[in-house]
Amino acid sequence: MQKRLFVGIDVGGTKIAAGLVTPAGKILARAKTATPPRSTAAQVIRCVDLLLKEMFASSGMQLKNLSGIGIGIPGIMDAQGKVIRTPNMRLTGAPLAKLLAAKFKVKIALGNDANLGALGEKWLGAAREAKNIVGIFAGTGIGAGVIIDNRLFTGSHGAGAELGHMIIRDQGPKCGCGNQGCLESLTGRWAMERDIKKSLAAGKTTRVKKLSHRKNQPIKSGILREAIAKKDPLVLKIMAEASRQLGIACISVRHIFDPEMIVLGGGVIEACGHFILPIVNKTFQKNKFFSGIGRCDIVASKLGDDAIILGAVYLVRQS
Ligand SMILES: [Zn+2]
Repeated sequence: MQKRLFVGIDVGGTKIAAGLVTPAGKILARAKTATPPRSTAAQVIRCVDLLLKEMFASSGMQLKNLSGIGIGIPGIMDAQGKVIRTPNMRLTGAPLAKLLAAKFKVKIALGNDANLGALGEKWLGAAREAKNIVGIFAGTGIGAGVIIDNRLFTGSHGAGAELGHMIIRDQGPKCGCGNQGCLESLTGRWAMERDIKKSLAAGKTTRVKKLSHRKNQPIKSGILREAIAKKDPLVLKIMAEASRQLGIACISVRHIFDPEMIVLGGGVIEACGHFILPIVNKTFQKNKFFSGIGRCDIVASKLGDDAIILGAVYLVRQS
């Protein structure tokens, strides 16, 4: 029987996923629930409580062996685990780590979801051997995590490594953050969705029937994957350009950090990585600056949805 157990939690925009994990990183049980719309801290804590009970019950483990909870949220938090900003949730200003510690009486570690994704890949995924790693996660938007000399880099205020908001194109499309031409506004899922809908509204045609009926609905990664399989010219053109922009961003990332590895993950890469990665790599390899200096490989995430859960456990285990 495991004496020390950890729980890793990934609070996403649509679902909260959790894993019950051994100190070595083995996932013993999983549970998930829908994220309450515009969640408050109290609602998130209630969800964590339910997920915890469900996983301990299903695995036959005892709650008294819980040593810590690591939790990843889509936002920015300070070193004390107070949330400074989250989109689409009402967590801003909540001392979430303190509230969780008061409720569960175990060690708590709170981190940005993409930062934890990079940590997970470093611990047990695609970047195990590397000391300097950049993880870029393409979901609805673009999240990122930077590990320098085996340590997570979070900046002076917890807002470092937000590579999705690097400005790639001056006067480019408007981004959700208020700026223009951010990487996310050129290559995130919502950016591709915007371009696809715009083209369809302008009268362009598609081989994917579902796409024509999605005026007011999101175009999820699965539909993009289907469009790739059908070699839909409209979607292929938009995705190829978005992939090229991501490749250009990777060149700049290499110039800043000189990492051994750039790991690409997130829902869009899970579904469409077979199309995106070769274009990113081709663009990336055109950079002449590093010839003869050393290698930097661009690889796909190995842990998929588990990266954040495992990164959260790594963070709390370390604290
Ligand atoms: Zn932005």
